[in-house]
Amino acid sequence: MLKFNGKSVLSGVAIGKIYIFKKQEYTLVRKTVADAEAEVVRFHDACEKAKAQLKKLYEKTKEEVGEDHAVIFEAHQMMLDDLDYVEAIEAMIRDEKVNAEYAVTMTGNSFADTFANMEDDYFKARSADVLDITKRVVNVLAGIKEAGIDSDEPVIIVADDLTPSETVQMDKSKILAFVTRFGSQNSHTAILARSMNLPSLINTDIELLDEFDGKLAVVDSFHDTLIVNPDEATLKEAEADLKRWRDELSALNELIGLDNVTTDGRKVNIYANIGSVEDVEKVLKNDAHGIGLFRSEFVYLESQDYPSEEAQFEAYKAVVEGMGGKKVIIRTLDIGADKQADYFHLDHEENPAMGLRAIRICLERMEVFKTQLRAIYRASAFGKCSIMFPMIISVWEIKKIKEIVEVVKEELIAEGHAIGEVELGIMIETPAAVMMSDELAKEVEFFSIGTNDLTQYTLAIDRQNECINRFYDSHHPAVLKMIQMTIDNGHKNGIWVGICGELASDLSLTETFMDMGIDELSVSPTYVLPLRKKVREI
Ligand code: PEP
Ligand code: MG
Repeated sequence: MLKFNGKSVLSGVAIGKIYIFKKQEYTLVRKTVADAEAEVVRFHDACEKAKAQLKKLYEKTKEEVGEDHAVIFEAHQMMLDDLDYVEAIEAMIRDEKVNAEYAVTMTGNSFADTFANMEDDYFKARSADVLDITKRVVNVLAGIKEAGIDSDEPVIIVADDLTPSETVQMDKSKILAFVTRFGSQNSHTAILARSMNLPSLINTDIELLDEFDGKLAVVDSFHDTLIVNPDEATLKEAEADLKRWRDELSALNELIGLDNVTTDGRKVNIYANIGSVEDVEKVLKNDAHGIGLFRSEFVYLESQDYPSEEAQFEAYKAVVEGMGGKKVIIRTLDIGADKQADYFHLDHEENPAMGLRAIRICLERMEVFKTQLRAIYRASAFGKCSIMFPMIISVWEIKKIKEIVEVVKEELIAEGHAIGEVELGIMIETPAAVMMSDELAKEVEFFSIGTNDLTQYTLAIDRQNECINRFYDSHHPAVLKMIQMTIDNGHKNGIWVGICGELASDLSLTETFMDMGIDELSVSPTYVLPLRKKVREI
């Protein structure tokens, strides 16, 4: 039996087999081969395997998020049959007597460059596809595992660290718990783990040894531990803890249907944060009265290319309709920093958290922004929908956004689309927005405070950097004063103010927020009922 310590991101218990998730990168080497024909056969076999993977991905994506998102994998299968591509690789293997990995990489890069230099935007975008299929074939040739979870039963994922896009692409039904060696409590991966209600540990002192793969383990994030090969007594105790935890969760169900009201009659809206259409089920199950933050960028992160207006419309419509008339606040694209999608081709930045991200990308890339706004406005005809904009720092930004919104609405109406009444709000997650909240409140209908970034920018502490975790203090008086100032300025101007950062679910602050006059708290679906319980005890 081996015991490792970590830091809990979401408390709970899981018992199951370990799945070691390693990021493997292939380092290209040029080798001379004696038998070029055998190498050509190896290349063809790899292509067949890559096509089989793509076929599976197509089926899975079609089932989980719809045909629109899936077609890209069908297109990739066809690209692997493209004669120009295939014959160029075969010729290189035969003429230069090189290994298939080398021929595929060099040919793929050269095709991708040709596409990237084309005038037409459609062909330019195909460059990323060529690189994608090339990487897939090379990975097959080099024996590198796919990013997915290759197991028939649900497992405990043990990894160095996970990016948000790796996490969203995992098959959630196969995960019992997350354990990472690195990571920070306020990273988006931690937020995703919370929203999946999976016991999770970060900063765990385990090494990623292959010998742990498949071993039975217990994650007890109440006690910040991972136990590998538990002895009989430990396993028995863990089974009892697991049962107790499940019982506690189901006892919360008694709060379903009750109001979020204090004993002295003060009310607060408790909404939920989501990242995908599938999360709506959890929101309804936990009886949240609305969605206070739909992180729409996850729709982009799950996609291999810019999601079309139609694909986005379907996703937003499914959420809005699924909520059956309850409010849904869709936050526009907040990509950048730790949330990266390759097809955006964002330049490397020294300080990505302070770089081209969120609303800044939208204001720079008007087509991307307008496509998203069109999709949201079209979805607004199917329920109660609000929009909020992330990372605002100035009044001019919101004035510019409102101009664009007007153009989009006029275009949609002229095209005969139905649109609903949409409330417009902003996230308050920069100190500048707090200081300007009196002026900003005159431009919008609500504020939602993003305490994750507000803490990061107020304290000058990178939320991703685990080395300075102990300085990342969302309870810092500077942060609390900023929250109070935002609420006061919002109310002075007649608009409502909520919190959608992780601090909203910090039960030690619920009473403080109620005293400050908060109107709404938006939390992971998992926290809705514990928060309701807390409010009702105040
Ligand atoms: C926040 O910053 O508090 C927030 C809710 O946005 P995100 O965590 O997605 O940056
Ligand atoms: Mg934020």
